[in-house]
Amino acid sequence: MWRDKGTRIKRLTFLLAVILCFSCVSCGRASGERTVSKTYFLMDTVIEIKLRCGEETAAPVFSACGEIMSGVEAVLSRTVSDSAVSRFNTEGQWQVDAAFSKVVQTALDVSGATDGAFDPTVEPIVSLWKRCEEQGRLPVEEELHECLAHVGTEHLVWEENTLTRTDPATALDLGAIGKGYAIDLVVDYLEKTEVPGGVVSFGGNVAVFGAKKNGEAYRIGLRDPQNTAGVLGYLSVPSGVISVSGDYERYVTINGARYHHIIDPKTGYPAESGLRSVAVLCEDGTLADALSTALFVMGVEEAMALYESAVFPFEAVFVTEDEIILTEGLAEGGRFEHTAKQYRLAS
Ligand code: AMP
Ligand code: MG
Repeated sequence: MWRDKGTRIKRLTFLLAVILCFSCVSCGRASGERTVSKTYFLMDTVIEIKLRCGEETAAPVFSACGEIMSGVEAVLSRTVSDSAVSRFNTEGQWQVDAAFSKVVQTALDVSGATDGAFDPTVEPIVSLWKRCEEQGRLPVEEELHECLAHVGTEHLVWEENTLTRTDPATALDLGAIGKGYAIDLVVDYLEKTEVPGGVVSFGGNVAVFGAKKNGEAYRIGLRDPQNTAGVLGYLSVPSGVISVSGDYERYVTINGARYHHIIDPKTGYPAESGLRSVAVLCEDGTLADALSTALFVMGVEEAMALYESAVFPFEAVFVTEDEIILTEGLAEGGRFEHTAKQYRLAS
């Protein structure tokens, strides 16, 4: 995550736009339903929770959701100095609370199944690009190689809920999975309340829960990478989480050029797989978030091979410069409504 003030403001503006875009789900009032929403800023991201209930019911639910998300940030953020991740990065050990072991396990599972396209130890490279932006220069090959030497899950040991590192320069960045985990916790909680349904938009992750009053699936707009004020189509989502990774989401600017935030851990450079964005649909938000990052790095061919292997249950929408490619489950189910005709729809 890039954290300087300039890009932070740009990002905040963009994220607000994402939220608006993703929020074009069920129009509560038009269908006679009451909806209330609340916006938060946590984990360096704008979050919006929309609930299908009245304000009185929503008030305590909103504050409980805020506490859940703050609790996740306090453990997983690498920019909060006393978080578990920050302490791992300085001390080299994390005794992982049972509730958080899912994050570590999913990170390691996705990393293993994607040949390291998703890599929770990408932190030294992310920090290098950030430093280079501050210094107004590109990283040089030697620096990239030096950082890459410490990147890779082979430098981690995961035993009895304790994560340790075998290389003192290895560091964690769970920015590609933490929001998905937070959204899972929020939805688990919301499902136990009396709120019948709603939508949680958390950066590039959107979860729907509960049925809509009319029984229809939620309709979620997917952003057009070429025109980020517009959508390229709509996904019909009865349940679960959509996680989007795109080259337009976050970036550093060096000598006037933009370098996006998703790193190919094999090269140390922003991934160039031919994809502009990928949206992953999954019942599990933690998995959806990790997979969207991984598939973005892998590109369509490798991503489709992972889909066909059925190692993980997911569906996806891949967006290249001029094509939209759907996984079989989405194409056959007719669950994607194609609106941006400048993209060819392939499957
Ligand atoms: P996302 O937006 O979910 O795709 O996550 C991107 C964020 O995860 C970046 O801002 C980095 O902090 C981190 N990251 C970048 N590249 C990778 C990667 N290949 N694997 C895991 N995390 C990554
Ligand atoms: Mg992700």
